[in-house]
Amino acid sequence: MMKKRTAILLLSAIICSITSFIKPATGVIPRQKSVLKTIIIDPGHGGFDNGTHGLISKEKDIALAISLKLGKAIEDQFPEIRIVYTRTTDIIPGNMPTLKEGLRYRADLANRSHGDLFICIHGNSDGHTAGEYAVKRVIGHKTARKGKRRRRVPIYETYYVKNTRIGTGTYVWKADRSGFKGDAIKQREESGDDMGDSTNTAFDMSTPEARIRAQLYEKKFFANSALFATLVETEFIKAGRHSDGVMQRNEGIKVLQATGMPSVLIETGFLTNKEEEEYLNSEPGQDQIVENIVSALKRYKEMLEGGSPQGNANPDSTVTPGQTK
Ligand SMILES: [Zn+2]
Repeated sequence: MMKKRTAILLLSAIICSITSFIKPATGVIPRQKSVLKTIIIDPGHGGFDNGTHGLISKEKDIALAISLKLGKAIEDQFPEIRIVYTRTTDIIPGNMPTLKEGLRYRADLANRSHGDLFICIHGNSDGHTAGEYAVKRVIGHKTARKGKRRRRVPIYETYYVKNTRIGTGTYVWKADRSGFKGDAIKQREESGDDMGDSTNTAFDMSTPEARIRAQLYEKKFFANSALFATLVETEFIKAGRHSDGVMQRNEGIKVLQATGMPSVLIETGFLTNKEEEEYLNSEPGQDQIVENIVSALKRYKEMLEGGSPQGNANPDSTVTPGQTK
């Protein structure tokens, strides 16, 4: 219980610090209508790529079930938002033969579809086999061999440990590897994509102004990704789930880095834990996860449209003319 309260306080602190993350130089952010026009939903894995195996299910199937429910719930509550799925069946279109091609396809589709938010749905593994896993321990010693070669060797016993790790976690891309993100933003800039702005101009990325503009987008996307991730984890905690919070993976997450928009990867729970896997497979479990993500989205949308500093406003408004350093 105490842990949960500390986590909530921590998350509140994160929201506060993110809210003050990008302070506009002018102090005025124009109020904008429906800044979330398109949301990309990416069910993790698929086809030959099963993801994690639980005792009764595969990650790719759980990810798809939750993703389809999530898309439907968003469409029901926010009819103005367009949902684009990277896959709606087991395989992604074209049945990509390699993982790398599949990830490239997902990111390209997201960029082509002019997404304003990219949500990947996954299930987690603690690295052990599902349910229980075998562990060896030393229970004594015996003497092996004879004469000079005689020595004591350990006697092992195998026992089984229940897989207890549970909980959710939401990843954002690692800030110091944001070059990938920069490239995706650059591609969208060059294609004349307005990325939610009121102005729609393609411009030459070779100019310092354009590069600075791309950097500002990168900052804004990171702040928005971290904000949405925090709101998602806050909702999971409110629902009584254990939360590992908002995280960054050291090795980076290619699909998050390759999308020119705020993007998060939600680990909805551990398939390696028997009870949590059952929860992830159950209708009430999936419905609760979807409800939590939609509640987070509602808050995120309100914060963006309310003109808060991390809002999806034109990043030009964060720089006064001439102040390009
Ligand atoms: Zn996964």
